[in-house]
Order: sequence, then structure tokens, then C-alpha cells
Amino acid sequence: MEAEAGRHDLDRIARAALVVASPGVPPDAAPLARARGARVPIVSEIEIGLRFLPATTRYIAVTGTNGKTTTTALVGHLLRALGHDAVDAGNIGTPLTEVALAPTPPAWLALEMSSFQLHDTPGIAPAVGVVTNLSPDHLDRYATVAEYYADKALLFRNATPASRWVLNHRDAAVREMAAGVPGAHFYFGRSPECDMSYRVPAEHPAAIENDDDDDEPTPGTIYWRGEPLLRRDRLALIGDHNVDNAMAAALAVIVADEAHQRPSALARIAEGLGTFRALPHRLEVVGEYGGVLWINDSKATNVSSTRVALEGMTRPTIVLLGGKHKGEPYTALLPPLRRIAKAVIAYGEAAPLIERDLGRALAFYRMGSDFAEVIDRARAIADPGDVVLLSPACSSYDMFRNYEERGATFRRLAAGGKAERGGRGA
Ligand code: ADP
Repeated sequence: MEAEAGRHDLDRIARAALVVASPGVPPDAAPLARARGARVPIVSEIEIGLRFLPATTRYIAVTGTNGKTTTTALVGHLLRALGHDAVDAGNIGTPLTEVALAPTPPAWLALEMSSFQLHDTPGIAPAVGVVTNLSPDHLDRYATVAEYYADKALLFRNATPASRWVLNHRDAAVREMAAGVPGAHFYFGRSPECDMSYRVPAEHPAAIENDDDDDEPTPGTIYWRGEPLLRRDRLALIGDHNVDNAMAAALAVIVADEAHQRPSALARIAEGLGTFRALPHRLEVVGEYGGVLWINDSKATNVSSTRVALEGMTRPTIVLLGGKHKGEPYTALLPPLRRIAKAVIAYGEAAPLIERDLGRALAFYRMGSDFAEVIDRARAIADPGDVVLLSPACSSYDMFRNYEERGATFRRLAAGGKAERGGRGA
């Protein structure tokens, strides 16, 4: 075997029998473009893993624009809560080829699939496939939204009448994409007709007019086919989008096997929902200092993620926005910002564009690219009872290696005050 590090010999790739792409390599990367040009088949690492897993391993595949990792982690957690030997894999956790190489591969997998991975996984055939939601993203990597959605739709490429799909009822793009796909369709949403539903409590800002009809489900409770499963306040997750993620995961696990629909199994699933904790960088509370709650949502690298984070806030919030611009306007943030933001601090490469879209409408501070200064400014503005929320709506690459480094820096600076500096100076 030969290995090549630090560069790609494109001519050699053009002569290969098969190209296996690591997760995260975009389809237009030069080695993949060359392979395609030379008609060399390209498959994902997941495809190789799937080919080597025994037929006894069943998997729940999760895709969508937002909430994939949280939903996948919830699926794995709930399968384990049921006593199954289950592993989280794909874009999250262990690489699938490593799982396939284990002496005893697991009975169940929770498999996160990005659109890029779906593109190159011709063998995908999950026990249950989940689409969390769809919105324009990755406009930096896809030429059009239609092209991005077309990759997501590849989740259904091997659908048969025996397939099971868990779908977001409130998302018209998801419903449209799944229309006519063979198999059973299970919906989660806000309407009581959904297989799994949640009614927002009346006092909640997102509540639509609830009447007090006794036949109606109780607000603030998650229902499985008309039966209460769990009260929302037993979920330790911020934001109603996480209620959606919890419903998507619970519904997928429930319909994956009839045994999961027994009352004892449902009780374990409900208990599992209650013991799940937020993943790092996803509306993760990193501390409360001087009565100010610091929340790290560094994973929010697009406008729709930041919007849902803002919708989950219940205290006056100082919002840190910025980084590398990804192409979408920021004006969609205005309604939730007007409701909850005490101030917006814009920083990094995108700061001028954010100021153009939001600057005149809100208490606004435009900063440079020194993250420690950004945190100092937030601390200076914050009063006890406020929240400082890092939910940047941008990628991190102008100032950090990745969103994890950005979130870790936020956590450190939030706790440590001025002594430690983060980010690269302007
Ligand atoms: P993904 O793996 O798809 O990027 P994550 O679970 O890592 O999703 O969450 C990333 C961000 O997306 C979160 O920080 C949150 O702001 C947003 N998000 C999570 N779940 C949802 C959802 N169901 N609907 C809309 N936005 C969501």
C-alpha cells in the first residue's frame, strides 16, 4: 500500500479504480472533480462502512439542514435507553468503517448524513430515515438551492414500500420532497393529527390562538398518537427547535421496531428524553457569572440557526454575531432580535454586512476581529439577569480554525475575564 500526504496526485486519482471521500470533502474539491472527469466512481466513507456491516445491523439515518447532530445523538441515546447496543456514527462519533471493523458490530446505529455524504452513498437504505428540516444553506458550496435539496433527497434513493420515513410536518419543503416516496410516512409537528405532536403553551410567544377545548391535547406536552409521552419542562434543552429534534428522534426510534411501541418501551424513551443534555456548542450553557448567563451556540453558522436560537431566549440577550459571511442576508433576524435583544455586537469579516442589515434598527456595536475585545464589550453591557449569546450566523474561518475553537474560546473568555486573549488580532 502507498500513502500520499500533504498533496494530491490528480493524475493518479484519475487512474484509480475507486475514490473514497472523507466526510466534509465538498464535491467540487479538485481531487473529486478530477475523478469525476475521468469517470472514476466516488463513494463516501459511509458507503464503504455500510457495505461491510452485517445485515443484522439496522440504522436510523438523519439528515436535514439543521438539527442533524442533536437528533442523531438523541436517537443513539434513546436506543441505548431501550437497552440496545447502539453506536452514533457518520458525521458524528465514530467513523462508520471503524464501526464495521469491530469484532461484534452493534445491533443499531444512529447515522448522521450530510448532503455531501448522501451524494456519494448509493447504498443508503435505512430502517428509518429522518429529515429534520430544510432551508437554504451551503450557498458557498452549492451553485443553487435546488442542487443542495437534490442531494438531500438522495436519502430516499432506495425507498421501497417497506421503508419508513420520519418527516417534519411544519416544513413545506420537507413534505414536498417526500411526496410520492414509497414507504410509510410518519410526521412530527404541532398539529394533533401528527404521529408525534407538541402544542405550544398559551403564554409562549410562539403560541397561536389556543382555545380551551377539553378534547385538545394539553399544551406543553409531547404526544405520541394522542397519548402523552413527556412534558416539555422535563427536556433539559433550550428552545422549541429542540422539541422538534426530540420529537424527530423519539418518533424514529418508536417506529423503527414494533417492540418500541410497548408501554414499557415508551416509558424508557420518555425517560431517555429527560436525561439527554445539550451537545457542546449548541445552545450550551457555559456558565453564570455575576447573574449573567453565557450561552455558547457557536455551531449556529447560518441565519436560520441563529433565528431559532433567538426564538428560544427568554431573558434580555446580548447577541454576538459575525465571522465569515456565507451569503445570506441578516434581515431575517430582525423580528426575534426586536423581541429579545438588548444589544447586537457584530465582529469579524461579516461585521460591515451585518451592520448594513441590522445596524439602524437595534442597539448596535461594530467591532473588529479581536474576540477578547468582543467578549469584554458584552461583559460591559450585561446586567444581572441578562444572557450573552454567541450564535454567530456565520462560519468561523476568518478568526478561528473551526466553530469548536470559537466556542471553546467563548467559554474560556466568559469564565476567565480579560487575562486570556482569544482569536487572532485584527
Ligand atoms: P447540524 O448537525 O444539522 O448542523 P446541530 O444539531 O449541530 O445540527 O445544530 C446546529 C445548530 O442548528 C444549533 O445550534 C441550532 O441553532 C440549530 N438547530 C438545531 N436544531 C434545529 C431545528 N430543529 N430547527 C432549526 N434549527 C435548529
